[in-house]
Amino acid sequence: MKFVGPHVSAAGGVDQAVLRAHELEATAFALFTKNQRQWRAAPLAEDVIQRFKAACEQYGYSSNQILPHDSYLINLGHPVEEALEKSREAFIDELQRCEQLGLSLLNFHPGSHLMQVDEDTCLATIAESINIALDKTRGVTAVIENTAGQGSNLGFRFEHLAAIIDGVEDKSRVGVCIDTCHAFAAGYDLRTQETCEQTFKHFAEVVGFEYLRGMHLNDAKSAFNSRVDRHHSLGEGNIGNTAFSYIMRDPRFDNIPMILETVNPDIWRDEIAWLKAEQQGCGDDAA
Ligand SMILES: [Zn+2]
Ligand SMILES: [Zn+2]
Repeated sequence: MKFVGPHVSAAGGVDQAVLRAHELEATAFALFTKNQRQWRAAPLAEDVIQRFKAACEQYGYSSNQILPHDSYLINLGHPVEEALEKSREAFIDELQRCEQLGLSLLNFHPGSHLMQVDEDTCLATIAESINIALDKTRGVTAVIENTAGQGSNLGFRFEHLAAIIDGVEDKSRVGVCIDTCHAFAAGYDLRTQETCEQTFKHFAEVVGFEYLRGMHLNDAKSAFNSRVDRHHSLGEGNIGNTAFSYIMRDPRFDNIPMILETVNPDIWRDEIAWLKAEQQGCGDDAA
């Protein structure tokens, strides 16, 4: 079974995100459980939690179809102690919010070394941050997203993801989310059937599909290997339709949330419908 849907707005309350996903006929969705550009947020109110759970139940979304994303401010590899502490606290809060909502995954960008420490030191710091957070929470898996490698962001090599996983003590509660735009911008080609096969073979060898807990299905405005993160609508960017058809027909991507972070919400409904049709192998080639 394939689960697909967009990152929907949670304006008006997290329960509203569920309704927005349902209206688009999505079978998966992503959301922020708090304002992603602020450090602090009011705790989730009990009635909001209940409404969220009731909406998920009503519209048939289980926790393996929902991929919450944490705040963009958090840097779990921050080289400065005080800032690292702030990020770790915020990350624990994000995991706790997921716990309260009955969610089992939390997607996040690994972290940045800010040119102040070497890659290995930063990766070890990120792993330690995850260990601390997992120790203080229950039931939620930390899902590391690969990045495009902009600036000093780590996570653009599959080896980075593997190194972080290696440093996490509880392997049952760590996983990865592969963003197709980020992978492509980081130098993993996805433009043809053959390059998709090579890229995911490499992923299987370095990280392993047993750790794949989500996907971000984005085409790329950015060029191959440019290390620039610019998403595009499916089929309209430099990756093209082939990669998305490939993923929809490959059982290794079953039963995980596959999230659209594509640039035009007006066509999300069409993108979802096209992906669902590709799963059956009967879609046309126009997304
Ligand atoms: Zn993404
Ligand atoms: Zn991105």
